Amino acid sequence: MSDLLSKLDPPQRVLMGPGPSDVPARILNALAAPTIGHLDPAYLQLMDQTRQLMRQVFQTENEMTLAISGTGSAGMEACVTNLIERGDRMIACVSGVFGGRMADVAGRYGASVDLVEVPWGEAIRPEQVEAALKAAPQTKAVGIVQAETSTGLLQPLDEIAEIVHAHDALLVVDAVTSLGGMEVPVDRLGIDACFSGTQKNLSCPPGLAPVTFSQRAVEIMDRRKSKVGSWYLDLSMIRNYWGSDRSYHHTAPINMTYALREALQIIVEEGLVARFERHQAMHRRLRAGLEALGLTYIPQHSLPNLNCVRVPDGVDDAAVRRQLLTEYGIEIGAGLGPFKGTAWRIGLMGHSCTARNVTLILAALETILR
Ligand code: PLP
Repeated sequence: MSDLLSKLDPPQRVLMGPGPSDVPARILNALAAPTIGHLDPAYLQLMDQTRQLMRQVFQTENEMTLAISGTGSAGMEACVTNLIERGDRMIACVSGVFGGRMADVAGRYGASVDLVEVPWGEAIRPEQVEAALKAAPQTKAVGIVQAETSTGLLQPLDEIAEIVHAHDALLVVDAVTSLGGMEVPVDRLGIDACFSGTQKNLSCPPGLAPVTFSQRAVEIMDRRKSKVGSWYLDLSMIRNYWGSDRSYHHTAPINMTYALREALQIIVEEGLVARFERHQAMHRRLRAGLEALGLTYIPQHSLPNLNCVRVPDGVDDAAVRRQLLTEYGIEIGAGLGPFKGTAWRIGLMGHSCTARNVTLILAALETILR
């Protein structure tokens, strides 16, 4: 009983895994602001400001830009379930866990899913997408992950976006591990549906999923013949709460909106260009240090903000991660799927992406691996 009633005292960590990342005090303070009603005019104003800030970070003018209540996976489901009707065809590009998750989600909402696959760590090639679209010309949407967190791969999107649009399909992009840490040029690429999560490069606690939809995607939602497969994620209702009607759908996570607004303000204050350059510069510094320690990168094109390296032969993956956590308070990620036991995933996301953290992890790894 005494433990149950003990004071909350989570340890201080340095979060350098695949997310969550460190949350600055300014955002934690925003979470602690007084909870007000989800229809209070003061809250509605904060929602409007949050939408404006989300548009800046998504680099879009899209009217339908809002935050889904839930984590990144809820953003994924919201994009898929609102665009897909039972029997529609969707292509899912799979180069790791999260492309596979999108295929699973689409199948659960009744899509007939075609997979475009590459071995883990490799990028999906434009000609694969072209071939899949030619083989299934009635495809409604193509889903792809920009930042595949399970492999550290940065997926180039420019050519694929052109091909998808040339075939008149919708482009759905998972930007969970990219938004706020690198370019997610929604309007420039004509991305039709894009989703993210708060706990990675936005450096907010997990709990909201920013999403944005092109006008074309909205028109397709408006022409649906069937109801959206999920009541909770049905944007035909949620948009009325975020829009001028303000009609109640579900009780918004008020304090998480405060936190997201604060996180987005921090990004806009830093400036997108400066922020992306900071992530690149810290990535280069970390990469040089890891390679000097003899570690090798797995993906062809590494993300700046997630560094996936091979565990050296003869080294106990879990023991190193345990030592990093217990002796240095540093969290890094383990390998997933085929990389279980053989990869480490080192995040440099948002507030965790600092010269101090790069130096700290390199020094800690050097001491442990020596
Ligand atoms: N997509 C990608 C690329 C991710 O990295 C994650 C989470 O790590 C998700 C989707 C799912 O997000 P969440 O765990 O917040 O539901």
